[in-house]
Amino acid sequence: MKAYKYRIYPTKNQAIEIDLQTEKCRQLYNKLLALKKDTYKDKGVTLSRKDLYREVKGNKEAYSQVSQNVADRINKAYGNFFARVKRGERKKGFPRFKKYGKYASITFPQIVNPEKIGKKTNFPKIGWLNTIYHRPITGTPKTLTIKKAKSGKYFITISCANPKTETLKHGKGEIGIDLGLNHFVATSDGEFFDHPKPMKGIAKKRKALAKQFSKTHKRSNNRNKARVRLARTDEKIANIRNDYGWKLCKTLIQKHETIYLENLNARGMVKNHQLAGAITDVSWSDFTNKHPYKAESAGGKVLKVNPKNTSQMCSGCGDIVKKTLAIRTHNCPNCGLKIDRDINASINILTKGKIGLGQPECKPERDEANTDGISPKQALSMKQEAIIST
Ligand SMILES: [Zn+2]
Repeated sequence: MKAYKYRIYPTKNQAIEIDLQTEKCRQLYNKLLALKKDTYKDKGVTLSRKDLYREVKGNKEAYSQVSQNVADRINKAYGNFFARVKRGERKKGFPRFKKYGKYASITFPQIVNPEKIGKKTNFPKIGWLNTIYHRPITGTPKTLTIKKAKSGKYFITISCANPKTETLKHGKGEIGIDLGLNHFVATSDGEFFDHPKPMKGIAKKRKALAKQFSKTHKRSNNRNKARVRLARTDEKIANIRNDYGWKLCKTLIQKHETIYLENLNARGMVKNHQLAGAITDVSWSDFTNKHPYKAESAGGKVLKVNPKNTSQMCSGCGDIVKKTLAIRTHNCPNCGLKIDRDINASINILTKGKIGLGQPECKPERDEANTDGISPKQALSMKQEAIIST
């Protein structure tokens, strides 16, 4: 399955209809969830997907197809919850009720006329939707999701079965890469890839907008306006990040067969309050999560290694050479090796990978129709450290 995302331009009335359907689905979601929880509590019975479907049938509020998907989402939320419990994760995330505004999309689980998709998009009750298909769809369209982004823009996501996969060929050999603040990526081959250029300016702009937002009064019109402005900037940041990340992944995989990178989750827990840093964090986690997909499609491999000591250890002799963040050059008093600190780290990552310390990536969980990635705000709460100094 492959998801294609396009922007749509609904008329005022269509937008109202989409918002209304979304809200009805949210209410249905909460109703079904309450029913499932209560039935278990009172009778010890877990309602199955079929039971929920039966319940949905009686609901004439939302479109029947769309409401069936609401039942599917509850099933999925439970499934994800049990999977997390099984894996012994700290945050189990038991399915919760959705507050107003926290349910932002509706999904049509069956596309009636798949051949029409890609030309014009027709919906029951909504009608023809003005859509810009900026890239062609491949495969058979299966499901379609309409989503209102926080920026107020509307998008559709079409998932297709049997898409034409990009014929990407992996290169040869192994490489270690280090993610840093100075350069986005430093490789064990001695190459640097910088952070996307427009990020710096836009990070500044976001900071200013966030300040504006914090000064507005709660539940005021100005606050809503400021929220939309902030969301639009976040959208831009996400776009730059995605675009850059994909291109870099592609470049690296076309050159190598196996890529070793840091397991970001194993980094220290030093808080990073800087906004630019937060954006960097997201870019990194985004990058390390997307890498494996790209590599797999090309038949290559991406393995994660524990980053412990990789920045302090000498890649020449293995001695620990303590250095603060300000020191950019690794200068070993023992063996005399003098190289860039990030290159030194990437060579250590490669070495760890070569001796078999690399772990395959565990696939990230995708939540319902969310293709936007992580917001900088979420990144802040992830409390990932910008750079390890021990
Ligand atoms: Zn040394």
